[in-house]
Amino acid sequence: MFVTHLECSRCGATFESEQLINLCRCGAPLLVRYDLEQVKARLARDDLASRAPDLWRYRELLPVRESENIVSLGEGMTPLVRLNRLGAELGLSNLYMKDEGLLPTGSFKARGAAVGVSRAKELGVKAVAMPTNGNAGAAWSAYCARAGIESIVVMPTSAPAIHRTECAVTGAKLYLVDGLISDAGGIVGRAVTQRGYYDVSTLKEPYRIEGKKTMGLEIAEQFAWKLPDVIVYPTGGGVGIIGIHKALEELQEIGWISEKLPRLVAVQAEGCAPIVKAWRQNKPEAEFWPDARTVAFGLTVPKAIGDFIVLRGLYETAGCGVAVSDADILKAVKTIASKEGLFICPEGAATLCAAAQLADDGWLKPDETVLLLNTGCGLKYTETLNAGAPLLKPGDDLPEP
Ligand SMILES: *Cc1c(COP(=O)(O)O)cnc(C)c1O
Ligand SMILES: [Zn+2]
Repeated sequence: MFVTHLECSRCGATFESEQLINLCRCGAPLLVRYDLEQVKARLARDDLASRAPDLWRYRELLPVRESENIVSLGEGMTPLVRLNRLGAELGLSNLYMKDEGLLPTGSFKARGAAVGVSRAKELGVKAVAMPTNGNAGAAWSAYCARAGIESIVVMPTSAPAIHRTECAVTGAKLYLVDGLISDAGGIVGRAVTQRGYYDVSTLKEPYRIEGKKTMGLEIAEQFAWKLPDVIVYPTGGGVGIIGIHKALEELQEIGWISEKLPRLVAVQAEGCAPIVKAWRQNKPEAEFWPDARTVAFGLTVPKAIGDFIVLRGLYETAGCGVAVSDADILKAVKTIASKEGLFICPEGAATLCAAAQLADDGWLKPDETVLLLNTGCGLKYTETLNAGAPLLKPGDDLPEP
């Protein structure tokens, strides 16, 4: 393992990495730092080709010391799909989607859970607690089950019912709260102090980002180390976009990719767009978003603890923030499914709405390579997306088309 220490994302304070730790004393998330000189000396890009197609192929850039601590369900190397028909409609000749819906537990949260749970196991954790909008709880609960770690999950009652089922079936202690993820977070915060659970809330432990970082590593490898011009990401807590940015910076440092980074685009829903609002006002940090509400439930994060890191990524890469409406999101789910065969989640579909806006106002150029990230599988969202069909009786003929 090449981890050297943990570093505060805000004040730069450093911490020893073999201890169980949450936030910096200044309240900001901690980032894992590696001896990248050593990684560069020991690993070549071409070494990857012979490795298994899961995220552990990047183990030199991951924080697990002993391979026996790896808790895996086969996560990683999701498909990169070219969107020819949608691209033509938007006037974008190089439009792609990376489909994270195929991961274990049906969302990209599996990446964070695989690495986070593996590291927790390595550090001797027996019980974790977390608030969730659903997919994170489902993923952590599944990976904890596999690791033999107890999991306590607190979820808003308004989260899609499938997530409750997933947590309950995989053996989490599940609690529902009549409120938002921020309310669930308050309950978890008190429980971890009183009962000694390890708090694995979004960005409150350092290793979930490392799992999500592997999206960035895969993107680079799948594009043969020539990065797309723009990466469009549906942003809730921001771990995914922070992870992708961190991956690309590390790859730059080991010399595998060139200087120019993709412009990062954070997409949020109009009903909960704190980061987009802060970006429009050129602010370093977002404000709490009151009455947060959207069909893209994973994006209902009224105040993200790492919002300033997301914003830093947008400013540094000359990216932007885009807010899209629920009506457009629901239409986009159908458009993507019926034109390209990809049945994806509303959060992922929001990226298409954003790309359409950005193509329209010229921010995206026709020949630029644009990558949309789909974060979850549409099969999990049958309540949001139900559709009817004409009912026939046995013996009926099909009506005229
Ligand atoms: C959690 C989640 C998001 C938001 O991800 P962050 O990395 O927290 O910004 C987006 N889409 C889906 C499906 C999610 O579950
Ligand atoms: Zn700090």
